[in-house]
Amino acid sequence: MIHSVRWRMFLSFLLVIVVAVGTVAFFVSRAASGEIERYEERTNQLRSERMEALLSGYYAERHEWSGVEPLVEQMGRLYGQRLVLTDAQGTVVADSHGMSMGQRSDFARWRRNISVGSSDTPFGTIFIDPQPAADGSATEEVSALASSINWYLVWGGLLAVAVAGLLTFLLSRRILAPVEALASAARGLGQGDLSRRVEVRSRDEFGELARTFNSMADDLTQAEQLRRNLVADVAHELRTPLSNIRGYLEAMRDGVLKPDSPTLDSIYEETLLLDRIIGDLQELAMVEAGQLTLLRRPDDLADLVKRGVAAVRPAAEAKKLALLVDLPPQPAVADIDPERIGQVLRNLLTNAIAYTPEGGEVSVKLADEGAQVRVSVIDTGPGIPPEDLPYVFERFYRVDKSRSRATGGAGLGLTIAKRLVDFHGGAMEVQSELGKGSRFTFTIPREAPDAAP
Ligand code: ADP
Repeated sequence: MIHSVRWRMFLSFLLVIVVAVGTVAFFVSRAASGEIERYEERTNQLRSERMEALLSGYYAERHEWSGVEPLVEQMGRLYGQRLVLTDAQGTVVADSHGMSMGQRSDFARWRRNISVGSSDTPFGTIFIDPQPAADGSATEEVSALASSINWYLVWGGLLAVAVAGLLTFLLSRRILAPVEALASAARGLGQGDLSRRVEVRSRDEFGELARTFNSMADDLTQAEQLRRNLVADVAHELRTPLSNIRGYLEAMRDGVLKPDSPTLDSIYEETLLLDRIIGDLQELAMVEAGQLTLLRRPDDLADLVKRGVAAVRPAAEAKKLALLVDLPPQPAVADIDPERIGQVLRNLLTNAIAYTPEGGEVSVKLADEGAQVRVSVIDTGPGIPPEDLPYVFERFYRVDKSRSRATGGAGLGLTIAKRLVDFHGGAMEVQSELGKGSRFTFTIPREAPDAAP
């Protein structure tokens, strides 16, 4: 509970409100009490002046204080305070509460007193009791005003806290709903339900989070699909040579086939195919996992092409194919791993030779394009149907399954070749026309890109 976002939001709101209301209350009550004090002072001042004027007028008219009590009582009632009037000798001549008449009590402790008459010939002094009288007085009204201000502040603060609670509830529901939906979808995904997605409702950070989650889920689904396909493909590819071997062995065990040299050769070839498939798979896995380390160094691609062509020349001659090479006059040096690019080239040449019928032509072109080097392997073979073209770089893809099997391929060669070129920061593409031939082209940047794709 304490760690929930909802609770923390409420505490934050509460803190802001308490600090805001507290600060306002502090300053308002300070300002109000200052104002009240000034108001009281001004009122007292006015009262004093009025009392002094009334009493001096009274004394100036009569030259004595006798009969002044009703006036003092009236003033005492009016101002809600006890007033005591002494004559010039200090004898009480009037008391609004009629208590200390004729006494010479010491009222000096009542700090507020007003001299009546001029300062050199005073007629008397009026003393004001600092304690307000019991009945409703002006001072009481003032303190009632102060407490009503405090009352409003307290209730205002409580109202703000209630609003904070309500706001927290409503806002947290709005804000946390997508987070909760995301958490539940992530939980579902973690438990293997790859169909879980969240609804993108807003364009804010939560919307962005939902979009990112969905795209992550899409990637996961795709990766899972690829994994399943790969396992199925591998199983399928391995099964064919394996069942061939089993068939030979069963036939020999049953005495249908003799374990002679041609039979053993056939079995041996099937094991070679198995070995090749497994080797290719290992290599592909390494490239796809990004574990392949390229040993790059500046190398002349023209030289590499010459060596590649020399390696396949016997195979081309055996099929009576013309093998042509078109190289630029200058060396085409690029930052490559010669082993790997040589492997790509050999793969394209081997395919071209394998798929081109006798009497055809296979040519290699090298073009220096400044920032990159372009290598093309062109053949006059059967070509690839347009509907198959987009898939030739996919693993285990073969255009004509039976014919390709005769050439010993498992449909991994081009996949590996393209991955190796990608790894160098280059690109590979194919153009083909049915009945006319195919052109496989790859480009390699001269300078190694900072990071392999
Ligand atoms: P494989 O080992 O079967 O040759 P690849 O990945 O090298 O596998 O090639 C995939 C498929 O592309 C081949 O099975 C073949 O159908 C087609 N292919 C590749 N190169 C050529 C080419 N030069 N001419 C016609 N088809 C080709």
